[in-house]
Order: sequence, then structure tokens, then C-alpha cells
Amino acid sequence: MIAAAALLAGPAPLRTPANAGILRLPDAGPAATPTAPGRPATQPGPARTPAGTVPGATPPGTRPPVVDHGPRTGNKVALTFDADMTDAMRYQLRSGAVRSYANLKIIDLLEREQVPATFFLTGKWVEQYPAVTRRLAANPRFELANHTYGHLAFTPDCYGLPRIAEREMTADVARTFDVVAAYGGRQTRYFRFPGLCHDRKALAALAPLGLTVVDGDVVSGDPFAKSWRPVVRAALDGVRPGSVIVLHVTEANAPMTDEALPHILAGLAERGLEPAPLSEVLGAG
Ligand SMILES: [Zn+2]
Repeated sequence: MIAAAALLAGPAPLRTPANAGILRLPDAGPAATPTAPGRPATQPGPARTPAGTVPGATPPGTRPPVVDHGPRTGNKVALTFDADMTDAMRYQLRSGAVRSYANLKIIDLLEREQVPATFFLTGKWVEQYPAVTRRLAANPRFELANHTYGHLAFTPDCYGLPRIAEREMTADVARTFDVVAAYGGRQTRYFRFPGLCHDRKALAALAPLGLTVVDGDVVSGDPFAKSWRPVVRAALDGVRPGSVIVLHVTEANAPMTDEALPHILAGLAERGLEPAPLSEVLGAG
């Protein structure tokens, strides 16, 4: 089921419930203008992906693979940005205590410098920021991935996050794919657990969905950072070819990330490392 809120929140997303899915519509662009009836089934998917396949897709019914990084060859690394949104965060926004959980300075910089990146979106963040989501989907260098619907904990103890019931896990993640799919762009079947917290039960719950779990091997520690320096240090210290760097685009909850990012990009360049979409770093493309 596609999220009604996303459909009602502004200019139409790129898809209708009937064709919500994973391949890009022909000529689907940033304006989200419906295109003339065409041949969507025969259109190629996102660049570098074989037609008919989606990065991260795995056979439904099997326990999803958990990936930390790609092959340690070449010079590609993935910048991944999580877009968390909990009910508590929404309350902070509504009450005016917080201005924004969407760090547009990060997106501005990535666009200006033409840097590829992958965004792990929660469904509630997408519903809060439909225009920003459209902007992400419209960028051919950005991939979109799944970070649950409301950023609940999928294990008993996960940084104090409220816990999702086991019987609701599958539907929560499926719903998030639907919410994100409505925006088109470079869709994937990559998924990241809140707090990277998962166990056997959580992985088993996601088996029907045919996805790949992506943790990451370089955790920047940017949430609630007081200075950009430790974020830069953490991001660059362990980075190697194939690395997946975990960052956040949540502004108020990761207020130093936009200041850290230029230094991270410079440090990667010094090391001869080049940001690439996650699918390329993991070797799926
Ligand atoms: Zn998160």
C-alpha cells in the first residue's frame, strides 16, 4: 500500500499505487510531472544496473545477507546518510523546539560537488519532507534505501529506542519501501536497521522482503556531535577501498555533519578514494 500522506503532501510523487515499484519511469524527472503512457516495462533501470534488477535485491524467503563493506579493491567508498524520524522527533518539530531534521547544507554540498551518495530514509522522514525527498530522488547520483518506517528498535536493547513488536517488523519495512518507491529515482533493496541493531529474529522477519541489510564499516559517530573534528577523524581513520561510511542527514540530531563533510571529502581525495553509489561500492552494479 502506498502512503496516502506522501500522495497528499504536495506535488504528486512519480508513481501511482498500481505501478509503485522499483524501476524508473521513462523520463521521470525532478518536476514529478506524469509522463505520457510509454513503455515502462522495457525501460532500463537506474544506470549501471542490469535491466530488471534492483541493487540489493535478494531472493525473497531467504534470510537477508548483512553487509559491512564492498570488495577491498579499487578506490570506491560509499557515503551513506541516514534520515531518522521518530514520533519523539516529530513532536520536537511540532512544538517548535527543533527547526529541522533535514540538513539541506549536506544536500547542497553533494549537489554542488556532484558527489554520489546513498540515503537510508525512514518513512516518517519522507512524509515530513516530501519536497526534500523529491530532490534526492531527482539526483541521478543519489540512491535511495530503507531505514524503517518510524526508527523503532528491532532488538530488545538498542540505544533506548522504543521497540517494535516482532509481528510488525515485516510490514513496517515493506511499508517503507512503498513510501520511498513513490518518489522514483534510483530505488534499491538496501536496508539499514536503526542503530544497526539486529538479531536472528529481526533478520528472519525481513526474509520475505528480498533485501540486503547494510551496516557499514566506518561509523562516523555524528549523532549529537559537538564538533566536526571527531566526526572527520572517525570517518577517515578506518576508511579503505570498499568502505561504507555511516553519516546522518538529520541536522538537529547530527548538527556537525555538514561542517565535517567538506573535510571528509578532502580526506578521501587525499587518500585516493572516490565516493560512489552504494551499489557500485558493493559490486552490485
Ligand atoms: Zn538511524
